[in-house]
Amino acid sequence: MGRKGLAMATTPANDQLTPAGNLGPATALVCRECGARRDLGPHYACEECFGPLEIDYAFGDLTRADIEAGPQNIWRYKGLLPVPANVADTPNTEPGLTRLVRADNLAEALGLQRLWVKDDSGNPTHSFKDRVVAVALAAARELGFKVLACPSTGNLANAVAAAAARAGIRSAVFVPSNLEQQKIITTAVYGGTFVTVDGNYDDVNRLASEIAGEQEDWAFVNVNVRPYYAEGSKTLGYEIAEQLGWRLPDQIVVPVASGSQLTKIDKAFQEFIKLGLVEDKPYRVFGAQAAGCGPVAAAFKGGHDVVRPVKPDTIAKSLAIGNPADGPYVLDVTRRTGGAVEDVTDEQVVEGIRLLARTEGIFGETAGGVTVSVLRKLIESGQIDPSAETVIINSGDGLKTLDAVAPVVAPSANIKPTLDAFRAANLA
Ligand SMILES: [Zn+2]
Repeated sequence: MGRKGLAMATTPANDQLTPAGNLGPATALVCRECGARRDLGPHYACEECFGPLEIDYAFGDLTRADIEAGPQNIWRYKGLLPVPANVADTPNTEPGLTRLVRADNLAEALGLQRLWVKDDSGNPTHSFKDRVVAVALAAARELGFKVLACPSTGNLANAVAAAAARAGIRSAVFVPSNLEQQKIITTAVYGGTFVTVDGNYDDVNRLASEIAGEQEDWAFVNVNVRPYYAEGSKTLGYEIAEQLGWRLPDQIVVPVASGSQLTKIDKAFQEFIKLGLVEDKPYRVFGAQAAGCGPVAAAFKGGHDVVRPVKPDTIAKSLAIGNPADGPYVLDVTRRTGGAVEDVTDEQVVEGIRLLARTEGIFGETAGGVTVSVLRKLIESGQIDPSAETVIINSGDGLKTLDAVAPVVAPSANIKPTLDAFRAANLA
């Protein structure tokens, strides 16, 4: 597969194509490397060069008022997603419109003037993955799949199991067996087929691709339905722009696992600019990784175009993808926009979780801690402009990664239930 190419795939004139009626504005699949096009279907790799496929669209006229009149979830943006026009009528978990929190306390602690936290722990299964799964489920139904499946580092497992349960279809979820206990319980509770695999995420992902080759009616959301699934992350970008009052931030820091979320937020901003929904202005995109799994940060800092796979070793398990599919495109976006990709140690991840909790009352998962600490590092190194408006993403809930902070937090005291005991403890 070629490394470069149409990373910033712009929409060519596609007047000759009729939008596929049952997948909304989506018109075709286009290869991100060589630009080859093919009809919409259950495909994810280019027939010419094996490059990843991306959805192409013919967007209709869409106004801010149209979007504002839509449902209080991601389906307000259905006119920009590969989903049927009646998508809101079929059962799904209805993710989206999570809080954009003005984070003045954290901003002050870090020396920033204006900071926002997009808190995606507010989704139905407490991570941003509900967004991508909702879009994948809607597309998978149209494409004729019967089972919703995935390899996962945990959050996706929760989202797939829950969405399938609500949709009344079967789920099949595969995770590494060393996953956090919280994420195992919060997947198993929804029922469905749930398999722990002795191996790391990259092993589980490879196994899923092999199973997908045999089980033709299984939609592995992040494998054979990936082009549709990945588009769900655009809704994070749309929401940030809408919640800022229909404008783009100056700087945004996004956690990087596969890298898809970062590239899709950029795509969302570009689409809003092209559609005239926000003013065109420069913005800088930054990626955040854990040092124990920082292949994209290493490539960025080394000035490389190729991302060299690593063996993950970090407490930030939701970011522990050693061979990130969208790594090269993360390099493209961050370099194009004047951003960067940085990484932090596990100790700094825990500090980041605690800082966000202490300053803003938001208990983020390890990926949130990565993002906060990378933000701090980028400020200290002068790469983030402290006077420019900044948004960071908290992609999941700290209740799912309790082990990360359990050793370093505790009650202030343990006392008998008497006023004397309270006085003696010097807590006043
Ligand atoms: Zn191709």
